[in-house]
Amino acid sequence: MVMNLVFFGPPGAGKGTQAALIKDKYSLLHLSTGDMLREEVASGTPLGVAAKTIMDQGGLVSDDIVIGMIENRIKNHTGGAIFDGFPRTVAQAEALEAMLGAHGQSINVVIELQVSDDAIISRIEKRAQEEGRSDDNMETLKKRLAQYRDYSANVIPYYKENAPYFNVDGMQSIADVTASVTKILDERKAA
Ligand code: AMP
Repeated sequence: MVMNLVFFGPPGAGKGTQAALIKDKYSLLHLSTGDMLREEVASGTPLGVAAKTIMDQGGLVSDDIVIGMIENRIKNHTGGAIFDGFPRTVAQAEALEAMLGAHGQSINVVIELQVSDDAIISRIEKRAQEEGRSDDNMETLKKRLAQYRDYSANVIPYYKENAPYFNVDGMQSIADVTASVTKILDERKAA
């Protein structure tokens, strides 16, 4: 079975960290729409220039743009993937299902990393010092968290209906989160 995993969770939940740690073990392509958008910003493309304003305000880039970026990456990819930071709307989730369906695939695991707001704030403060992302400041973070609450209220119920859905305690150590995620993936692979 080809594995396609969605990592769901608020900013700072550890989606990117965990994706990097598990992708090789399961031969999965790591697709982060946030990373793709930051590359566009860094290259100064028209898309990047338009996206930067939205990202710095903690808003959502349009569905068409992010769906198009994902489509480019998966149209010729026959293996599995980890979707990190995508989908953030039901329209994105439906488009993803259609794109995967074209290869006879689907999302077969959704893992929500659950982390308290206090932990998110201290993790993002640390990441701001380490990585210097322009949206990792308290003002934008508050908006990103509010945005997360809004879109997760739609996307979580969608996935609870349409895919095997698991919660993982994202407050554990990085190694323990990886162990929890690996256990779920191994069980799914065997299923
Ligand atoms: P992230 O690295 O996932 O936290 O994403 C950083 C920012 O990029 C977000 O705050 C959004 O402005 C934008 N972004 C990333 N992924 C998406 C998406 N799937 N839909 C809309 N906007 C996105």
